[in-house]
Amino acid sequence: MTSALPGQSRAGPSDRSQRARVLTAAVLVTALVAAVAAVIAPSGLPSDDPLGGLARFGLAVTVFAFAQLAQLQFRAAAGAVSLTWGEAALVICLHQVPAGWIPAATLLGAGLAWSGMSLLGTRRRPLEIARVASSLTVATALAGFVTTLLGQPLLATPTPPLVLAMLAGAVTYLLVSVGLGAVTLSLHHGVPTGVLLREVLRGKLLMFVGNVVVGLVVVALIEVDPRWLLILPLPLWLLQQAYRHRLRVDRDRRAWRAFAEATAALDHRDERGVATAVVSDALTGLTNRTAMLSRGDQVLRQLARDRPVALLLLDINRFKEVNDTLGHAAGDQLLRLTADRLGGLARGGDLLGRLGGDEFALLLTSVPVLGDSAAPMAYTLRQAREITERLAAPTEVAGVRMSVEAAVGVVVASAGTADMAELLRRADIAMYQAKEGSGCVAAYDSARDATSTDRLALLAELREALAADDQLVLVLQPAVDLATGAPTGVEALIRWRHPRRGWLNPHEFIRPVENSEQLGTFTRYVLDKALGVAAQWARDGLDLPISVNLSARSLLDRRLPTEIADALRRHRVPARRLVLEITETVVMSELEVIDEVLGALRTMGVQLAVDDFGTGFSSLTFLTRVAVDELKVDRSFVLRMADSPEAAAIVRTTVGLGQQLGLRVVAEGVETAEQRSALAELGCTAAQGYHFFKPMPADKIGAVLGGLVNGARSRVVPLRADGAS
Ligand code: C2E
Ligand code: MG
Ligand code: MG
Repeated sequence: MTSALPGQSRAGPSDRSQRARVLTAAVLVTALVAAVAAVIAPSGLPSDDPLGGLARFGLAVTVFAFAQLAQLQFRAAAGAVSLTWGEAALVICLHQVPAGWIPAATLLGAGLAWSGMSLLGTRRRPLEIARVASSLTVATALAGFVTTLLGQPLLATPTPPLVLAMLAGAVTYLLVSVGLGAVTLSLHHGVPTGVLLREVLRGKLLMFVGNVVVGLVVVALIEVDPRWLLILPLPLWLLQQAYRHRLRVDRDRRAWRAFAEATAALDHRDERGVATAVVSDALTGLTNRTAMLSRGDQVLRQLARDRPVALLLLDINRFKEVNDTLGHAAGDQLLRLTADRLGGLARGGDLLGRLGGDEFALLLTSVPVLGDSAAPMAYTLRQAREITERLAAPTEVAGVRMSVEAAVGVVVASAGTADMAELLRRADIAMYQAKEGSGCVAAYDSARDATSTDRLALLAELREALAADDQLVLVLQPAVDLATGAPTGVEALIRWRHPRRGWLNPHEFIRPVENSEQLGTFTRYVLDKALGVAAQWARDGLDLPISVNLSARSLLDRRLPTEIADALRRHRVPARRLVLEITETVVMSELEVIDEVLGALRTMGVQLAVDDFGTGFSSLTFLTRVAVDELKVDRSFVLRMADSPEAAAIVRTTVGLGQQLGLRVVAEGVETAEQRSALAELGCTAAQGYHFFKPMPADKIGAVLGGLVNGARSRVVPLRADGAS
């Protein structure tokens, strides 16, 4: 179950929690009175009742317990609300047991069901379970009262007036249970009760109608012949699926609304018109690799030997993700669009080609010769930056709004000193440097040439590293609650202690790994190490989730959920303590296998976080596809927040979206106290970054976390509230 983040409130937190306590106490007392009343209420059962009083009471307890167990989650503005089969249980019990017994049966049934769910799944405090069970008890007590005012359905053949009486009871139950749930959430989170009430009632409407119909059908079947009940499981299961679908559609609609509001707040630059391009790659109409090499050499030979030329090699970031996850048609569309935009930027005499995959090359032949020797490179870098900016203009591919981000490697040389193959080789090295560095453009640096050429050797060395066990290590970086300083989770980040090259950061090896067949082994290795750390924390009494980064391609592997389940079991770590960080593109994917894998992971109880939120092929539409628990605001927005209103708007919108959907929002890369307070002001609750902690070795983190937990314990305010109806 999701914990809900606190919204803006008019009453202070202590004021609100005081009122919540009073409410809990009041509900408890009422529930006890109702239960006592049940014991002394007249039974009204016929003396020849074949079932007997105790069996009937047991039946009612079981029915109420089942109604709670088959619950669905509904996300309201301030947190999660559980929607149950309560009305169906009520109608059945109104017919099967004396109305006076129903409150006691509810208290027992709901109490047992919620305690069981707490033991097996998300932990809940006993007080919270008592509150939910007693709210439901009050609701059934009032419902029974209203029903018996209008008729006596106990063991009676249902006539229209009796059906109306039970319907009135069901409506009473709905209003009271939803009302009490909404008041509790509102006290915890400060969101107006009316708003919540409307939202939850709308979410519950279909389920309410279905529940009442199911209740009445069961009553009718019992009257005809109880054996007919045996046909019920299948229709009930189908109905549960329909409810789930309806809730999903409803959540989608709300996310879409939020999406529209959020995108309206962002800056949309103009898209430049599409221009002409000549020649022969089938998909894009650009020059292909072979033609590029031969024509390029031809051009170079025609130019004066000392005339500067420049080659730009462009590679689309995360193209593979789009292709793998949104499908090849989307990938093709993206390539055509990139080709069109590049075509619009090339001048007469320049040579533009697609080398294959997502790589494009542009040979500039009109580099100005004026100025000093550095001028041609400066000019080319300016051109390259302009190109990346133009490419980044938002566009729509396969119905998904995205921005084409590319890494560009740049090389400048005199026409007579290198052929096309050599220029491409140098530009390729520069392009990898661009991918690895922070900017998106990099110039060829002959000094780095030597180290770059053995990129292929890396994969062979990785195989050894994975077997050696002490080369690939995890460093850990805590995220903290901005208000209390308490740790909210820890991210595991991979480092390679390479025997010859020294410490390597992920950007120096992750990409080749992702493109190799060793990805599966690598992912299992990282998960195993991370869960080992989490298991140690559990032994030390630290209850904190660990976050692991997953490459997009790992999610194309159907075996992943089983492997993760095995690893969790092996390390005895509960699923909810594992957070998998994935990217937006992955979650936007319509591939069945990804839906399946993410669905299986969610069912297991593993949490999902969206990493680098707001970058790359960003769009909020993914929130309509997969339920996630956390959004990680990308570092680039935190960095620009102070001087870019757009960046600040993105942070604010993300925080608002998180609150609305009940997700955690964690800001990444917080380096200064100013950023920290600006984030707190924008309503962000958690953050990660050098300002708090740099990633640290596993043997240091235990002590740090212990200190943080103890330091913050006195100040931590519980953020969870749950209501059920
Ligand atoms: P990420 O998941 O967004 O991780 C956050 C990165 O930001 C980390 O870089 C972290 O060290 C860095 N960082 C944290 N706080 C600050 C700050 O205040 N300032 C600055 N400038 N940087 C900060 P790192 O460890 O180099 O990881 C880079 C990326 O590599 C990660 O980005 C993640 O996408 C990927 N990665 C890391 N470990 C793994 C892994 O085990 N598997 C996979 N597939 N990818 C990984
Ligand atoms: Mg991450
Ligand atoms: Mg990140």
